Amino acid sequence: MAGESEIKEIYENGLKILEDLTNNADELQEQMLEEILTRNAGTEYLSRFFPNGQADKQSFKTNVPIVTYEDIKPYIDRIANGETSSILVADPITRFIQSSGTSGGQPKLIPMTAESFEKRKYHNLLFDIVVKKCFSGLDEGKSLLLLFIKPEMGTPSGLVASPYTAFFSKTNTFKNGLAKFSTSPIDTILCLENKQSMYCQLLSGLLQRDKIIRISSSFASVLARSIKFLEDYWKEFLSNIRTGYLSDWITDPGCRNAMSSILTGPNPELADLIQQICQDISWEGIIKKLWPKIKYIHCIITGSMSQYVSLLEFYGGGIPLVSPSYNSSECSFGINLNPLSKPFDVSYTFLPHTAYFEFLPVNNDGGGKSREFELHVASATESSGIKNETMAVNELVDLMNVKLGQYYEVVVTTLAGLYRYRVGDVLKVTGFYNKSPQFQFVEQKNVVLSIGADKTTEEDLSKAITNAKLILEPFGIMLTAYSSYSDTSSTPGRYVLFWELKMRGSNDLPKLDAKIMEQCCCMVEESFDFTYKSNRKGGAISALELRVVKHGSFHELMDFYISKGASISQYKPPCCLKSEEAIKILNSGMVGKFFSPKTVC
Ligand code: AMP
Repeated sequence: MAGESEIKEIYENGLKILEDLTNNADELQEQMLEEILTRNAGTEYLSRFFPNGQADKQSFKTNVPIVTYEDIKPYIDRIANGETSSILVADPITRFIQSSGTSGGQPKLIPMTAESFEKRKYHNLLFDIVVKKCFSGLDEGKSLLLLFIKPEMGTPSGLVASPYTAFFSKTNTFKNGLAKFSTSPIDTILCLENKQSMYCQLLSGLLQRDKIIRISSSFASVLARSIKFLEDYWKEFLSNIRTGYLSDWITDPGCRNAMSSILTGPNPELADLIQQICQDISWEGIIKKLWPKIKYIHCIITGSMSQYVSLLEFYGGGIPLVSPSYNSSECSFGINLNPLSKPFDVSYTFLPHTAYFEFLPVNNDGGGKSREFELHVASATESSGIKNETMAVNELVDLMNVKLGQYYEVVVTTLAGLYRYRVGDVLKVTGFYNKSPQFQFVEQKNVVLSIGADKTTEEDLSKAITNAKLILEPFGIMLTAYSSYSDTSSTPGRYVLFWELKMRGSNDLPKLDAKIMEQCCCMVEESFDFTYKSNRKGGAISALELRVVKHGSFHELMDFYISKGASISQYKPPCCLKSEEAIKILNSGMVGKFFSPKTVC
């Protein structure tokens, strides 16, 4: 576990470390694969692909199949059930990381080893060093770190499982690093009751408002949720600050104890000041008003998080949004070396020392369709023991051989027992830093609306909605969240969009002018590609439906997923809903519905 001296070393030499990593990306990738194979060639899983005992790069490339989580789940289940022999990995597995599973279905269990954690644990510190080049005075302030955990889950093997953020919050790397610069006392972060945790973290941030130079959360969704919480509870915060007394419903002993050293007595001046700010009908720029020394907002704003960009820009009042890194439960991929890039231009530079990366080229016809990689399907050898998997081994491209402008699906081989594993994300190469490629996050591959021959991807949907919401802007109307589903309950089926709308100046629901809303439907359909339009013209798809939901509906959706076991810190808003219950929740907040005109626009 990281000691303070190790962290100091990273802070002092971080930029040099980054130069070394990116300048030696080719060698580091070769070394990484060699190390993984040397250590694990004898495992039950991998040994069958090296019948001659020769576990070199070439044999890896030709013999080891590309897999998804479903293919390796039986092996992971055996480990979780207590088998201890070297099934996937030779090193001891120390725990499991739970993936979020909100858009992809059930959470996955990803093995972790001491070594695999070592390789990724400094990513956020490295990013901090990059960001310090862009803003002065960061050392003189603190972060309002909004971080939440959920209870660990036990497995019969005795190994625990939790989301990465929950695990990370308990490590010395966190305690000796980021936590030291946070206004949230560690016990408020480690509180298992999310509402009490959020209340205390925000209250700590308000009490120390003059020290805060950044607000930070894992994903934009967490920050959006926290602002809604502030909207709901600001009067109670004021009362606590005014009287110096913490609300009685905060019963967690860790929280109460931690808050007693921050909320030390009545502070009516601060309460008056915050009251003046919060009672304004418009919350435009509220973040800047509440935390006047803030320099930037730190959270992931790419991929499915891009739907929160306008909202955060609105609340931020011009404060830069900085998207730090691209990570998953499986591994850390890269960090953003241009923190000031505009939200839709953010790229992540891959760091080559955390895993071995390969890439499946995917077609890009400009509209996001037909991205299905034409797999050169070959039945796996009987001895592989993995049934029905596809092999596209000749098509995989190494990190060093990706081409500028190309789209790829990322495939990882890790120190913790994943071999040629499809993470399910599509990325686009946007440049290189030294020898390391830089990628824009495009979409999660499995998120699609689909009716008949048409498949509309997350990226298609995001682009179409970005175009359509421009129609609303001149009327002072903001789109604050969206989702969708394929409604096939009648024939022909149609795509249904859910939009949460509010006025810029207040949280009031806008007056919904049917003509304007229909124009939005038209614009979405117009922005979809040829396949959609020809199916719609030919009558195979019905007119698009737009359901407007009231302010707060998407927070209810988030609460629903959290009640089902999702973690707040990992929450990704599902762009396409599959769950009937989730659709019901949004339907219950519906305040209007609109359709595209009968004929295609
Ligand atoms: P999880 O394993 O549950 O933490 O989720 C990981 C997934 O979150 C990734 O595979 C991506 O789909 C998404 N994700 C993580 N980082 C980013 C990012 N910077 N931009 C867009 N999506 C991201």
